[in-house]
Amino acid sequence: MTKLQDLLTVGKPIIADGGMGTMLMQAGLEQGQSPELWNVEKPDAIRKIQSGYINAGAQIILTNTFGGNPVRMRANGLEDRMTELNHAAAQLTREVVDASDKAVVVGGSMGPMGEFMEPLGTISFDDAVAMFKTQAQALFDGGVDLFWIETMSALEEVKAAVTACRQVSETMPIVATMTFDTKGRTMMGVKPEQAVEAFIEMGVIAMGANCGNGPAEIETVIQQMHEVKPDAILIAKSNAGLPRAEGDHFVYDATPEDMATYAKTVNALGAQIVGACCGSTPEHIQAIATALKES
Ligand SMILES: [Zn+2]
Repeated sequence: MTKLQDLLTVGKPIIADGGMGTMLMQAGLEQGQSPELWNVEKPDAIRKIQSGYINAGAQIILTNTFGGNPVRMRANGLEDRMTELNHAAAQLTREVVDASDKAVVVGGSMGPMGEFMEPLGTISFDDAVAMFKTQAQALFDGGVDLFWIETMSALEEVKAAVTACRQVSETMPIVATMTFDTKGRTMMGVKPEQAVEAFIEMGVIAMGANCGNGPAEIETVIQQMHEVKPDAILIAKSNAGLPRAEGDHFVYDATPEDMATYAKTVNALGAQIVGACCGSTPEHIQAIATALKES
C-alpha cells in the first residue's frame, strides 16, 4: 500500500485529483441533494469519477465525504447515517485505488461544518472536535491513508479537525488547505502566511490552498506561503478558472491548457502537490500531469 510519505520521498511533483461535487452534478446530482448519499446509492458514479482521475494521473484520490461532518449531515437530515456514509465512501475509494495498478493514496476529505464556531456561532471548540472525530473515525475505519481537511476559512476549525484526527490516529498523516477567496484572505480573514505558520505548529504534513477564484489567486497564495516557510510541503488545488454564475449554477471556463500553465507556474512557485477543484475534470488533471512530468 502506497503512503503519502513514499510519494514525497521521490521529490517530484505529486498530482492530486480534481473536483468531485461539480462532476457529481454533471452526473445528475440535483441541487440540495446530499453528495454523500451517492456513496451507497450510486457508487458506480463515484467509481467512474475516481477511476477517471486515477487514469488521468492523479496520485491522491479524495473520498466523497466533503460534507460528511455531523453538522452538514444534520442539515441534510442524514445525521443517523453519518458513520455509515463516511465509512462506505472510504471503503469505496479504497477499492477503486486498490483495483488500479498505480501508486495512489486515499485521502479522507473533511470539509467545513458550514456554521460558525464560538464566539460568532454556538459551536464550542470541544463540540467541534467531538463532531469531526466521528467523521475521522469512520474514514479511518473505512481504510483511508491520510486525513485531508479542505476548503477551510477559520483556523480554529482547522485546529478542531486536526485535534480530532489526532485523537483517532496518532500517526496518520494530516493535510490541511484553506480557501483564500476574499481579497487574498479566507472568508474569516486568515492570511496565507498565518495559515502556513499555524499549520506547521499543528503538525500537518502538507498544506496549502484549494477552491476559490481560480489559478491567479492560488498562485499568489502559494508564493506567499513559500516565502515565509520555504520548507513546507505546499498544495495547490485551484478551481478550473473563475466561477461565473449562469442561471442557478456556476460555470468554470479554464481549458486543460490553462490548467497546464497554472500547474507549471504554481509548481515553480513552490507547490509540490498540484491538483484542481470545482469545475475540473479528468481532462484538466491529465493536462496538469503531463505538464508536470516535464518538470
Ligand atoms: Zn472547489
